[in-house]
Amino acid sequence: MDFPFSNVNRSETLQKVAGQAYDLIVIGGGITGAGVSLDATARGLKVLLLEKGDFASGTSGKSTKLIHGGLRYLKQFDFWLVHEVGSERAIVHKLAPHLVLPEKMLLPLIEGGSYGKWLTSFGLKVYDILAEVDGDDKRRMLEAKEALKMEPLLPKKILKGAGYYAEYRTDDARLTLEVIKTGLPLGAQALNQAEVVDFLYSQDRVSGVKFRDAISGSMFEIASKYVINAAGPWVDGLRLQDGSLGGKRLHLTKGVHLVFPREKFPVRQSVYFDVPDGRMMFAIPRGKVTYIGTTDTNFTQDSDRVGIDITDAVYLITAVNHMFPDINLELKDIISSWAGLRPLIHEEGKSASELSRKDEIFTSKSGLVSIAGGKLTGYRKMAERAVNRIAKMMEEEHGRSLKACTTDKMPLCGSDFKKNKQVQKYMDLVFDRIRDSGFSTYDAWYLVTTYGKQTQSILELYAQIQDEDPSRRLIRAEARFAIAHEMALDPLDFFIRRTGRMYFDIESVRSHGKAVIGEFQQAFKLGKTAGEALEKALKESVRQHSDFSMDRI
Ligand SMILES: Cc1cc2nc3c(=O)[nH]c(=O)nc-3n(C[C@H](O)[C@H](O)[C@H](O)COP(=O)(O)OP(=O)(O)OC[C@H]3O[C@@H](n4cnc5c(N)ncnc54)[C@H](O)[C@@H]3O)c2cc1C
Repeated sequence: MDFPFSNVNRSETLQKVAGQAYDLIVIGGGITGAGVSLDATARGLKVLLLEKGDFASGTSGKSTKLIHGGLRYLKQFDFWLVHEVGSERAIVHKLAPHLVLPEKMLLPLIEGGSYGKWLTSFGLKVYDILAEVDGDDKRRMLEAKEALKMEPLLPKKILKGAGYYAEYRTDDARLTLEVIKTGLPLGAQALNQAEVVDFLYSQDRVSGVKFRDAISGSMFEIASKYVINAAGPWVDGLRLQDGSLGGKRLHLTKGVHLVFPREKFPVRQSVYFDVPDGRMMFAIPRGKVTYIGTTDTNFTQDSDRVGIDITDAVYLITAVNHMFPDINLELKDIISSWAGLRPLIHEEGKSASELSRKDEIFTSKSGLVSIAGGKLTGYRKMAERAVNRIAKMMEEEHGRSLKACTTDKMPLCGSDFKKNKQVQKYMDLVFDRIRDSGFSTYDAWYLVTTYGKQTQSILELYAQIQDEDPSRRLIRAEARFAIAHEMALDPLDFFIRRTGRMYFDIESVRSHGKAVIGEFQQAFKLGKTAGEALEKALKESVRQHSDFSMDRI
């Protein structure tokens, strides 16, 4: 990369970008754009990725955070999709075993539920075969007694048994970021806060983009042989801009997640369970919290403002209280939340939940390639298909042939782990290094599952900071890392997408918000007024994520 992956010297960075021409510009810094950028760079293209907000600020920071095969797509007979994402799970796990962690899933079978014993057993078997699952990960069917032992909160009276099968859990925003960062040493370039506002054309063919730097407001025109539109829920807006919005269109559906303290909802393990209206939902324990989701409702409002209504929250809480009768969750128990939009492909007459999660690629007359649909889990394959499309055009139009896709063998930034065991060993090592400062095994787990081997850099920064409070000192070290190496521009980038603390440890945002603001003020040379504005924005964000009192209506 010609410039550091940091916004501290933004104007120099912009000057460098402005002076270059690219083979490929990727619009959108979600997982789709990240995957395309890495794949194309690895095949020898000169790539620039442009993201209008922060990386993963769209759908890719707001998913259920599972790398999963999509069991429910079996019900829709989407065998191809189950096969592809099912097989991808194992590959993505191998590329970053610290960030894509095995997560066994319990599927309770209850009286009157949508899954019977025989059908579940058969379905999970087919799932294993399609996803090429082997060894200990193969599905097991459990008797009610066994299931209750595993998860005592399940409803004893109506429980008939359970399916037990393997999935993976991740942090979607960090996965997106690490995919982008993996491409940087190979020559990829990426900017956040850079909104593509128009296309450049030469003889009616797209020949670059015009983008606005969101920080200074300056406009830049950048030439590129090809442009891929990976703007997620905003894909159609850019197709419209290109004059090529015809045929298939996006259909956006909203999905909401709620977070509770682990003590309030102490599930021992992840559960995929029936909702009374026939849908399915997840309850996933994660460190200090348990999160639940998701809803799936049509969304036709402004994609830049996706809110959570009290009705969404009540729907999810009611479903949990139905399946876990001893829990009695209430709105006041919610400590955090998020909502995202699924950029699905519209199919006439189908409801939100029935729409296929398959991805599609559209090439317009102007040569603009747009990619939408799909899943976080299948990002690598989606990227391969999109870059194959560019490779074909490159061959036909420029006589240049590209290498084949190699991303299945490219460990992600932060990982040189070959197996889970090595991740655990590294966690033990990190714990040994931090235990004397009063840190717990949770802290070692958090550091390694967030940063992998980059934990070393965080600990080096930690050693340079003078602060009598160890947890504040650690969070300041993380903020310095995010500013210097991960293009974080403000405390929200840091607390939401670099660390996930806004969702999974909101108390640390409340207690150390000021210290983190101090780090941003120092790095970006911000005065008192700017510091106060950051504080106000952070407070407001904490409120939006956690306040479900009735006056929110
Ligand atoms: C509630 C929910 C739960 C889900 N759970 C899972 C799950 O557990 N597992 C799974 O595999 N999948 C899951 N998915 C699906 C998955 O999250 C999405 O398929 C995926 O994140 C889409 O990524 P994307 O990059 O295409 O879109 P996005 O992440 O939205 O990225 C598009 C980016 O483009 C940027 N952009 C838009 N316009 C412009 C412009 N003009 N210039 C520059 N940048 C622009 C946006 O800011 C955005 O960051 C879930 C989806 C939802 C909504």
